[in-house]
Amino acid sequence: MSKEDKYFFLSNNKVLKKIEELALELGNLPDEVFYNHVNQDKNDFANWIEGVFKDKECSKLIRNIDDKNRMQLELLKFLVNKSLKPRKRRYKCDVCGRKFEKKVALSVHKTVAHKKRGK
Ligand SMILES: [Zn+2]
Repeated sequence: MSKEDKYFFLSNNKVLKKIEELALELGNLPDEVFYNHVNQDKNDFANWIEGVFKDKECSKLIRNIDDKNRMQLELLKFLVNKSLKPRKRRYKCDVCGRKFEKKVALSVHKTVAHKKRGK
């Protein structure tokens, strides 16, 4: 499978390479182009996302949507959630190196464990 096989070629000749690009493009996509790909018989976007990115969660989300704006909204919501998940921000204590998920937890830890006395 070459790289181009993974691209999505819109019927207006634009090329999409990532789900993010689809999500953004939907905002400018002419209706007739959208309905070329999404209609009673098929949902090319859902097929593309499932086939190329193996993202069943995402494809399921848009599989039954035949409204451009709703699909864009669902995709954007999905992408935002996805980008938040793996990033679980870890706050590292610069004194002992312990990590915390929340900044406030780190502050509490620092106060309790490394409280400086005197000075
Ligand atoms: Zn510490």
